[in-house]
Amino acid sequence: MFIDTHAHVYSEYYDDISSVLKESSVLGISKVICSGVDHKTNVELLNLAETHENMYITLGIHPESVNNYTEEDLLFIEKHLDNRKTLAIGEIGLDYHYDGYDKEKQIKLFRKQLDLAQKYNMPVVIHSREATQDTIDILKQYNLKGVIHSFSGSVEVAQIYIGLGYKLGINGVVTFKNAHIKEVVKSLGMNHFILETDSPYLTPEPLRGKKNFPGNIIHIANFLSEYLDISKEELSEITNANIKSIFDKFI
Ligand SMILES: [Zn+2]
Repeated sequence: MFIDTHAHVYSEYYDDISSVLKESSVLGISKVICSGVDHKTNVELLNLAETHENMYITLGIHPESVNNYTEEDLLFIEKHLDNRKTLAIGEIGLDYHYDGYDKEKQIKLFRKQLDLAQKYNMPVVIHSREATQDTIDILKQYNLKGVIHSFSGSVEVAQIYIGLGYKLGINGVVTFKNAHIKEVVKSLGMNHFILETDSPYLTPEPLRGKKNFPGNIIHIANFLSEYLDISKEELSEITNANIKSIFDKFI
């Protein structure tokens, strides 16, 4: 059994959420961790997790929501951290890819949520895009653990994050022909990695181009099992142990 550690299964992307989760479960995905990105999705995920036993959630304000969030949105997150389904604060972080999202504002929002994680001793789910140095410099000032989601950096950067207490999330990108991340995984070993789909984005081969869903973890697992020459049982054992080492509330 595999766990999808990062997906965005909510009404913005899927019409029939119950079917998406059921189909994934039939394919051997026992649990799906869905990440909120703004107040609207945080509220929706809390409701969905109430009625869908295999859905777990993380609550956070994504850097691309930096222009629209309010202090009340952060208070709302703080109030729902003790929900039995809330595993972490995320997805939070820094994204310098697009203009229009002020860096200083992003850093301020990121720190506020890291402060919350520290205060409540919660793991964090980190989004970092074209912002590696700032992300590392900031995370070094905290004593947290968590996931660097959709990791695509070098072995050297991976080692820094690992040293800080983080696991690295890999997704469909690893199955793409020219992706260098597979060599990073091979040289460091699966002990530092967990699997995610980032649904509805980043659909793995051989389905690339179609809409992604948590069941496609199977294709990522198939690829890694062959590429690393380990059985799928072993792969699921290692990744599930890695997941449990980060998300303490996971049963
Ligand atoms: Zn995401």
